[in-house]
Amino acid sequence: MDWTTFLGHQRQRTWFANAIGNNKLASTFLMVGPTGIGKRTFSKLIAKSLLCTQSDPSELSVCNRCETCVQVERQTHPDVLYLARDPEKSVLTIDQLLGSDAARMREGFCYELRIRPYSARRKIAIIDDADTLKEDTANSLLKTLEEPPPGAVIFLLGTSEKRQLSTIRSRSQIVRFSPLSDAHVTELILRHELVGDPSAARELAERSQGSIQYAKELNDPTLLEFRNQIHAFLQQRPMDFIGFTKAIIDHLNQSTPDGQPRRDRLKWCLDEVTDVLRNSLWTQMEIPAQEGSEPASRFAPMKNLSARTLVQLIESTQEARENIQRFIAPAALLEAWAANLCRMARL
Ligand SMILES: [Zn+2]
Repeated sequence: MDWTTFLGHQRQRTWFANAIGNNKLASTFLMVGPTGIGKRTFSKLIAKSLLCTQSDPSELSVCNRCETCVQVERQTHPDVLYLARDPEKSVLTIDQLLGSDAARMREGFCYELRIRPYSARRKIAIIDDADTLKEDTANSLLKTLEEPPPGAVIFLLGTSEKRQLSTIRSRSQIVRFSPLSDAHVTELILRHELVGDPSAARELAERSQGSIQYAKELNDPTLLEFRNQIHAFLQQRPMDFIGFTKAIIDHLNQSTPDGQPRRDRLKWCLDEVTDVLRNSLWTQMEIPAQEGSEPASRFAPMKNLSARTLVQLIESTQEARENIQRFIAPAALLEAWAANLCRMARL
Protein backbone atom coordinates (compact mmCIF):
# COMPACT_ATOMS: atom_id res chain seq x y z
CA MET A 1 0.00 0.00 0.00
CA ASP A 2 1.22 3.51 -0.79
CA TRP A 3 -0.37 6.95 -0.84
CA THR A 4 -1.28 6.73 -4.53
CA THR A 5 -3.62 3.78 -3.92
CA PHE A 6 -4.93 4.97 -0.56
CA LEU A 7 -8.43 6.41 -0.92
CA GLY A 8 -9.86 9.49 0.77
CA HIS A 9 -8.86 11.51 3.84
CA GLN A 10 -7.03 14.15 1.84
CA ARG A 11 -7.42 16.84 4.49
CA GLN A 12 -5.75 14.63 7.12
CA ARG A 13 -2.95 13.81 4.68
CA THR A 14 -2.20 17.48 4.05
CA TRP A 15 -2.35 18.17 7.77
CA PHE A 16 0.25 15.47 8.57
CA ALA A 17 2.49 16.55 5.68
CA ASN A 18 2.51 20.10 7.06
CA ALA A 19 3.13 18.97 10.64
CA ILE A 20 6.05 16.79 9.56
CA GLY A 21 7.42 19.47 7.19
CA ASN A 22 7.31 22.10 9.93
CA ASN A 23 8.84 19.70 12.44
CA LYS A 24 5.77 20.08 14.64
CA LEU A 25 4.61 16.49 14.85
CA ALA A 26 2.95 15.68 18.18
CA SER A 27 3.78 12.40 19.87
CA THR A 28 0.28 11.01 20.51
CA PHE A 29 -2.60 11.03 18.07
CA LEU A 30 -6.14 9.93 18.74
CA MET A 31 -7.48 8.89 15.34
CA VAL A 32 -11.27 8.79 15.52
CA GLY A 33 -14.03 7.88 13.09
CA PRO A 34 -16.23 4.91 12.14
CA THR A 35 -14.70 1.46 11.74
CA GLY A 36 -13.72 0.32 8.27
CA ILE A 37 -12.78 3.67 6.75
CA GLY A 38 -8.99 3.34 6.72
CA LYS A 39 -7.68 4.87 9.98
CA ARG A 40 -5.36 1.96 10.57
CA THR A 41 -4.00 1.89 7.01
CA PHE A 42 -3.55 5.67 7.20
CA SER A 43 -1.53 5.35 10.43
CA LYS A 44 0.59 2.61 8.91
CA LEU A 45 1.26 4.81 5.88
CA ILE A 46 2.34 7.68 8.13
CA ALA A 47 4.69 5.24 9.89
CA LYS A 48 6.09 4.16 6.54
CA SER A 49 6.51 7.78 5.40
CA LEU A 50 8.38 8.67 8.60
CA LEU A 51 10.72 5.70 8.35
CA CYS A 52 11.27 5.19 4.60
CA THR A 53 14.98 5.55 3.88
CA GLN A 54 14.51 6.68 0.28
CA SER A 55 12.07 9.55 0.54
CA ASP A 56 11.58 12.82 2.36
CA PRO A 57 9.06 12.38 5.21
CA SER A 58 7.70 15.90 4.77
CA GLU A 59 6.59 15.02 1.26
CA LEU A 60 4.55 12.21 2.74
CA SER A 61 5.65 9.76 0.10
CA VAL A 62 7.01 6.25 0.35
CA CYS A 63 9.29 4.36 -2.02
CA ASN A 64 7.68 1.01 -1.14
CA ARG A 65 10.92 -0.71 -2.20
CA CYS A 66 13.45 -0.06 0.57
CA GLU A 67 13.80 -2.68 3.28
CA THR A 68 12.07 -0.40 5.77
CA CYS A 69 9.00 0.04 3.56
CA VAL A 70 8.82 -3.69 2.93
CA GLN A 71 9.08 -4.48 6.65
CA VAL A 72 6.46 -1.90 7.65
CA GLU A 73 4.11 -3.31 5.02
CA ARG A 74 4.61 -6.84 6.34
CA GLN A 75 4.31 -5.63 9.93
CA THR A 76 7.74 -7.04 10.73
CA HIS A 77 9.62 -3.76 11.26
CA PRO A 78 11.13 -3.91 14.77
CA ASP A 79 10.49 -0.22 15.44
CA VAL A 80 6.79 -0.24 14.58
CA LEU A 81 4.73 -1.72 17.40
CA TYR A 82 1.16 -2.92 17.07
CA LEU A 83 -1.21 -3.40 19.95
CA ALA A 84 -4.78 -4.63 19.75
CA ARG A 85 -7.27 -6.32 21.99
CA ASP A 86 -6.57 -10.05 22.33
CA PRO A 87 -9.34 -11.71 20.26
CA GLU A 88 -10.29 -13.72 23.35
CA LYS A 89 -10.69 -10.58 25.47
CA SER A 90 -13.17 -7.78 25.23
CA VAL A 91 -10.74 -5.02 26.30
CA LEU A 92 -7.07 -4.04 26.15
CA THR A 93 -5.45 -5.32 29.34
CA ILE A 94 -2.85 -4.03 31.80
CA ASP A 95 -0.74 -7.13 31.10
CA GLN A 96 -0.53 -6.12 27.45
CA LEU A 97 0.63 -2.65 28.41
CA LEU A 98 2.89 -3.31 31.39
CA GLY A 99 3.67 -7.01 31.15
CA SER A 100 2.43 -9.93 33.22
CA ASP A 101 2.46 -9.84 37.01
CA ALA A 102 5.75 -11.74 37.09
CA ALA A 103 7.48 -9.35 34.70
CA ARG A 104 5.76 -6.00 35.33
CA MET A 105 7.54 -3.16 33.51
CA ARG A 106 10.05 -5.60 32.09
CA GLU A 107 7.88 -6.57 29.15
CA GLY A 108 4.72 -5.37 27.47
CA PHE A 109 3.94 -2.46 25.20
CA CYS A 110 5.24 0.44 27.33
CA TYR A 111 8.53 -1.37 27.93
CA GLU A 112 9.03 -2.19 24.26
CA LEU A 113 8.32 1.39 23.26
CA ARG A 114 11.10 2.56 25.58
CA ILE A 115 13.75 0.31 24.04
CA ARG A 116 16.01 2.33 21.75
CA PRO A 117 15.04 2.07 18.07
CA TYR A 118 16.82 -0.85 16.40
CA SER A 119 17.25 0.47 12.93
CA ALA A 120 15.03 3.43 12.41
CA ARG A 121 15.10 6.98 13.67
CA ARG A 122 12.19 6.52 15.99
CA LYS A 123 9.63 4.14 17.41
CA ILE A 124 6.08 4.21 16.15
CA ALA A 125 3.10 2.51 17.77
CA ILE A 126 -0.37 1.77 16.45
CA ILE A 127 -2.91 0.91 19.16
CA ASP A 128 -6.23 -0.51 17.99
CA ASP A 129 -9.41 -0.71 20.06
CA ALA A 130 -8.80 2.47 22.06
CA ASP A 131 -12.58 2.47 22.71
CA THR A 132 -12.07 -0.50 25.02
CA LEU A 133 -9.50 1.16 27.32
CA LYS A 134 -10.80 1.07 30.87
CA GLU A 135 -9.76 3.59 33.48
CA ASP A 136 -7.12 1.44 35.21
CA THR A 137 -5.66 0.24 31.93
CA ALA A 138 -5.58 3.75 30.53
CA ASN A 139 -3.81 4.96 33.67
CA SER A 140 -0.96 2.57 33.02
CA LEU A 141 -0.53 4.18 29.62
CA LEU A 142 -0.57 7.80 30.80
CA LYS A 143 3.07 8.02 31.85
CA THR A 144 4.14 6.81 28.41
CA LEU A 145 1.88 9.36 26.75
CA GLU A 146 3.17 12.14 29.00
CA GLU A 147 6.84 11.35 28.60
CA PRO A 148 7.21 9.42 25.38
CA PRO A 149 10.69 8.33 24.28
CA PRO A 150 12.29 10.96 22.00
CA GLY A 151 10.79 10.92 18.53
CA ALA A 152 8.19 8.28 19.35
CA VAL A 153 4.82 8.60 17.64
CA ILE A 154 1.77 6.81 19.03
CA PHE A 155 -1.51 6.37 17.16
CA LEU A 156 -4.58 5.42 19.19
CA LEU A 157 -7.46 4.26 17.01
CA GLY A 158 -11.05 4.67 18.19
CA THR A 159 -14.50 5.34 16.83
CA SER A 160 -15.36 8.62 18.55
CA GLU A 161 -13.44 11.07 20.72
CA LYS A 162 -16.38 11.31 23.13
CA ARG A 163 -15.99 7.63 23.85
CA GLN A 164 -12.41 8.05 25.06
CA LEU A 165 -11.40 8.68 28.64
CA SER A 166 -10.70 12.34 29.31
CA THR A 167 -7.21 11.46 30.56
CA ILE A 168 -6.34 10.01 27.16
CA ARG A 169 -8.11 12.75 25.23
CA SER A 170 -6.28 15.53 27.01
CA ARG A 171 -2.90 13.99 26.18
CA SER A 172 -3.59 13.42 22.50
CA GLN A 173 -3.82 15.42 19.34
CA ILE A 174 -7.24 14.45 17.98
CA VAL A 175 -7.54 13.66 14.27
CA ARG A 176 -11.09 13.14 13.02
CA PHE A 177 -11.88 10.93 10.05
CA SER A 178 -15.14 10.95 8.11
CA PRO A 179 -16.86 8.07 6.32
CA LEU A 180 -15.57 7.36 2.81
CA SER A 181 -17.46 8.61 -0.22
CA ASP A 182 -19.68 6.15 -2.09
CA ALA A 183 -17.27 6.31 -5.03
CA HIS A 184 -14.34 5.30 -2.84
CA VAL A 185 -16.27 2.47 -1.19
CA THR A 186 -17.32 1.26 -4.66
CA GLU A 187 -13.69 1.20 -5.72
CA LEU A 188 -12.67 -0.71 -2.59
CA ILE A 189 -15.50 -3.23 -3.03
CA LEU A 190 -14.25 -3.97 -6.53
CA ARG A 191 -10.63 -4.05 -5.38
CA HIS A 192 -11.44 -6.53 -2.59
CA GLU A 193 -13.63 -8.44 -5.07
CA LEU A 194 -16.60 -8.43 -2.71
CA VAL A 195 -18.73 -8.31 -5.83
CA GLY A 196 -17.55 -8.33 -9.43
CA ASP A 197 -20.19 -6.22 -11.11
CA PRO A 198 -19.62 -2.43 -10.91
CA SER A 199 -23.31 -1.55 -10.64
CA ALA A 200 -23.82 -4.09 -7.82
CA ALA A 201 -20.72 -2.63 -6.14
CA ARG A 202 -22.19 0.86 -6.37
CA GLU A 203 -25.47 -0.32 -4.90
CA LEU A 204 -23.69 -2.01 -1.99
CA ALA A 205 -21.53 1.10 -1.44
CA GLU A 206 -24.60 3.31 -1.20
CA ARG A 207 -25.86 1.25 1.74
CA SER A 208 -22.47 0.94 3.43
CA GLN A 209 -22.50 4.32 5.20
CA GLY A 210 -18.96 4.95 4.01
CA SER A 211 -17.39 1.90 5.64
CA ILE A 212 -15.80 -0.97 3.76
CA GLN A 213 -16.20 -3.16 6.84
CA TYR A 214 -19.94 -2.52 6.94
CA ALA A 215 -20.09 -3.22 3.20
CA LYS A 216 -18.47 -6.61 3.82
CA GLU A 217 -21.04 -7.44 6.48
CA LEU A 218 -23.92 -6.25 4.32
CA ASN A 219 -22.65 -8.42 1.50
CA ASP A 220 -23.50 -11.56 3.48
CA PRO A 221 -27.33 -11.75 3.36
CA THR A 222 -27.57 -14.43 6.08
CA LEU A 223 -25.50 -12.29 8.42
CA LEU A 224 -27.58 -9.21 7.71
CA GLU A 225 -30.82 -11.04 8.36
CA PHE A 226 -29.42 -12.54 11.53
CA ARG A 227 -28.26 -9.13 12.75
CA ASN A 228 -31.79 -7.80 12.33
CA GLN A 229 -33.11 -10.81 14.23
CA ILE A 230 -30.74 -10.15 17.16
CA HIS A 231 -31.77 -6.50 17.31
CA ALA A 232 -35.46 -7.40 17.18
CA PHE A 233 -35.07 -9.88 20.06
CA LEU A 234 -33.31 -7.27 22.18
CA GLN A 235 -36.17 -4.81 21.70
CA GLN A 236 -38.90 -7.32 22.44
CA ARG A 237 -40.83 -7.11 25.77
CA PRO A 238 -41.12 -9.46 27.50
CA MET A 239 -37.92 -10.76 26.03
CA ASP A 240 -38.17 -14.30 24.76
CA PHE A 241 -34.76 -15.50 25.83
CA ILE A 242 -35.49 -19.14 25.04
CA GLY A 243 -36.43 -18.11 21.52
CA PHE A 244 -33.39 -15.83 21.38
CA THR A 245 -31.02 -18.62 22.36
CA LYS A 246 -32.64 -21.00 19.91
CA ALA A 247 -32.39 -18.47 17.07
CA ILE A 248 -28.67 -18.06 17.70
CA ILE A 249 -28.05 -21.83 17.90
CA ASP A 250 -30.04 -22.40 14.69
CA HIS A 251 -28.07 -19.69 12.92
CA LEU A 252 -24.74 -21.14 14.09
CA ASN A 253 -25.70 -24.64 13.01
CA GLN A 254 -26.85 -23.51 9.59
CA SER A 255 -24.21 -20.92 8.79
CA THR A 256 -20.86 -22.17 10.02
CA PRO A 257 -19.00 -25.46 10.32
CA ASP A 258 -18.33 -26.81 13.79
CA GLY A 259 -15.14 -25.77 15.57
CA GLN A 260 -13.34 -22.44 15.37
CA PRO A 261 -15.53 -20.84 12.63
CA ARG A 262 -18.60 -21.47 14.75
CA ARG A 263 -16.92 -20.06 17.84
CA ASP A 264 -15.90 -16.98 15.83
CA ARG A 265 -19.46 -16.45 14.63
CA LEU A 266 -20.72 -16.76 18.19
CA LYS A 267 -18.18 -14.09 19.23
CA TRP A 268 -19.43 -11.86 16.44
CA CYS A 269 -22.95 -12.37 17.71
CA LEU A 270 -22.09 -11.43 21.31
CA ASP A 271 -20.10 -8.43 20.01
CA GLU A 272 -23.21 -7.29 18.19
CA VAL A 273 -25.20 -7.52 21.43
CA THR A 274 -22.42 -5.61 23.25
CA ASP A 275 -22.58 -2.88 20.61
CA VAL A 276 -26.32 -2.49 21.14
CA LEU A 277 -25.83 -2.38 24.92
CA ARG A 278 -22.94 0.10 24.68
CA ASN A 279 -24.90 2.32 22.37
CA SER A 280 -27.85 2.20 24.76
CA LEU A 281 -25.54 3.20 27.60
CA TRP A 282 -24.11 6.10 25.62
CA THR A 283 -27.60 7.26 24.70
CA GLN A 284 -28.60 6.97 28.34
CA MET A 285 -25.61 9.06 29.39
CA GLU A 286 -26.47 11.51 26.63
CA ILE A 287 -23.22 10.97 24.80
CA PRO A 288 -24.46 11.59 21.29
CA ALA A 289 -23.14 9.75 18.29
CA GLN A 290 -21.15 12.59 16.82
CA GLU A 291 -20.85 13.27 13.16
CA GLY A 292 -18.68 10.63 11.59
CA SER A 293 -18.96 8.09 14.40
CA GLU A 294 -20.80 4.78 14.08
CA PRO A 295 -24.15 5.26 12.33
CA ALA A 296 -26.81 5.43 15.03
CA SER A 297 -29.33 3.65 12.84
CA ARG A 298 -27.35 0.44 13.23
CA PHE A 299 -27.95 0.33 16.95
CA ALA A 300 -31.39 1.32 18.19
CA PRO A 301 -30.97 1.77 21.96
CA MET A 302 -32.68 -0.64 24.36
CA LYS A 303 -35.34 1.16 26.32
CA ASN A 304 -36.15 1.33 30.03
CA LEU A 305 -32.82 0.09 31.33
CA SER A 306 -30.75 2.01 33.85
CA ALA A 307 -27.09 2.81 33.15
CA ARG A 308 -26.14 0.51 36.01
CA THR A 309 -28.08 -2.40 34.53
CA LEU A 310 -26.57 -1.77 31.12
CA VAL A 311 -23.06 -1.89 32.56
CA GLN A 312 -23.89 -5.22 34.23
CA LEU A 313 -25.31 -6.58 30.99
CA ILE A 314 -22.21 -5.52 29.06
CA GLU A 315 -19.96 -7.21 31.61
CA SER A 316 -22.04 -10.38 31.59
CA THR A 317 -21.96 -10.50 27.78
CA GLN A 318 -18.21 -9.96 27.74
CA GLU A 319 -17.74 -12.73 30.26
CA ALA A 320 -19.79 -15.09 28.10
CA ARG A 321 -17.65 -14.08 25.14
CA GLU A 322 -14.48 -14.93 27.00
CA ASN A 323 -15.92 -18.33 27.92
CA ILE A 324 -16.41 -19.25 24.26
CA GLN A 325 -12.82 -20.32 23.91
CA ARG A 326 -13.07 -22.55 26.95
CA PHE A 327 -14.95 -24.99 24.75
CA ILE A 328 -18.17 -24.77 26.68
CA ALA A 329 -20.95 -26.02 24.38
CA PRO A 330 -22.52 -22.94 22.73
CA ALA A 331 -26.04 -23.98 23.77
CA ALA A 332 -25.15 -24.24 27.46
CA LEU A 333 -23.18 -21.02 27.33
CA LEU A 334 -25.94 -19.10 25.60
CA GLU A 335 -28.69 -20.38 27.86
CA ALA A 336 -26.80 -19.36 30.97
CA TRP A 337 -25.95 -15.97 29.49
CA ALA A 338 -29.47 -15.21 28.24
CA ALA A 339 -31.05 -16.30 31.54
CA ASN A 340 -28.60 -14.01 33.33
CA LEU A 341 -29.46 -11.17 30.98
CA CYS A 342 -33.18 -11.49 31.61
CA ARG A 343 -32.74 -11.82 35.36
CA MET A 344 -30.52 -8.72 35.63
CA ALA A 345 -32.63 -6.62 33.32
CA ARG A 346 -35.97 -8.05 34.52
CA LEU A 347 -36.94 -8.28 30.89
ZN1 LIG B 1 10.98 3.19 1.42
